[in-house]
Amino acid sequence: MKVFQHVNIVTCDQDFHVYVDGILALENSQIVYVGQENQEIFKQADQIIDYQGAWIMPGLVNCHTHSAMTGLRGIRDDSNLHEWLEDYIWPAEAEFTPEMTTKAVKEALTEMLQSGTTTFNDMYNPNGVEIEKIYEAVKASKMRCYFSPTLFSSDMETTDETIAKTRAVIGTIKGYQDPNFKVMVAPHSPYSCSRELLEASLNLAKKEDIPLHIHVAETKEESGIILKRYGKRPIAFLDELGYLDHQAVFAHGVELNEAEITRLADSQVAIAHNPISNLKLASGIAPVIQLQKAGVPVGIATDSVASNNNLDMFEEGRTAALLQKMKSGDASQFPIETALKTLTIEGAKVLGMEDEIGSLEVGKQADFLVIQPQGKIHLQPQENMLSHLVYAVKSSDVDDVYIAGEQVVRAGKVLTVDL
Ligand SMILES: [Zn+2]
Repeated sequence: MKVFQHVNIVTCDQDFHVYVDGILALENSQIVYVGQENQEIFKQADQIIDYQGAWIMPGLVNCHTHSAMTGLRGIRDDSNLHEWLEDYIWPAEAEFTPEMTTKAVKEALTEMLQSGTTTFNDMYNPNGVEIEKIYEAVKASKMRCYFSPTLFSSDMETTDETIAKTRAVIGTIKGYQDPNFKVMVAPHSPYSCSRELLEASLNLAKKEDIPLHIHVAETKEESGIILKRYGKRPIAFLDELGYLDHQAVFAHGVELNEAEITRLADSQVAIAHNPISNLKLASGIAPVIQLQKAGVPVGIATDSVASNNNLDMFEEGRTAALLQKMKSGDASQFPIETALKTLTIEGAKVLGMEDEIGSLEVGKQADFLVIQPQGKIHLQPQENMLSHLVYAVKSSDVDDVYIAGEQVVRAGKVLTVDL
């Protein structure tokens, strides 16, 4: 048994237990004790690690990103979503080679690990991707992920061809039988996929018994396009196709009215909230408080670095909190407990992984980050740890990271990615 002592632990469990000067004990990948010091636990320890007052919290869960786009950081600022996608992102992605993509994914893994993210939900353009190479890199990194090829409608291939290609990738990923590397069916959006492709995507997800991942209700412009094309807003249109009755992650959910939120609460859909990407592309502010009050699972996400421009989940959580306070006109809304849970256990719920990860509890996987506040002037006074974790911490403050009990970052250096 491995025991971490002299640690201040933010569990992010149901009752939001926080242990000051507590201990965390692991048996291989699993947490076997979390709480105050306990002599019985020390007696069983093979190894005791003294963290001298450091802060420990669960690894962060990034619910929507595009790691292969890391090479496009800074490609275009100051554009709205549709111009940004059509004139800059999609043409650049068309030029990707397998080498560029693998390099970009490794850089993303490094950036995520360095900033305390241990699980991510990825959507990538399958053009120029060798899934075996990506899998090798992710497996070596120890990170947990869904890594899903995006489906688009285009003049270049038929719906059947797109589905066949996707099915082949799903088959390859399922063949790995790796619980840390899974796949969803990821049609890009209701506007960039034909009705036929959206229907075929849902059928594929049902057949393969895997979730869906799709951009939905991101902008007013999208609502206008779908209303014009199908006579319905995006949620009603996808509902008609059956998307709300299948496990799904809807990225964004900015343009939602009250009736749509009520319908989502009664569906199998969860929302990946991308506050900075939504601000940068002037898409809007998602109604996160209303969604959470209605019972829709909401997690935090960065989207790609091309619209962010980093993978810093602490910055994302802080921005989410500030925006919800401003949007509601009530500073008591979206308190620090909510912010920390949304970054961790709520994100795990969005991905259907809440039984394994997202909080530090007995029986769960030991995925956590460590921040040593000593010597960091912006993290003083240390007793206000919870506030600092939301409002003062920087991604570069993360010292160590563990996944399944194994150390993957030491003193800010990633041990598991070979750049
Ligand atoms: Zn996205």
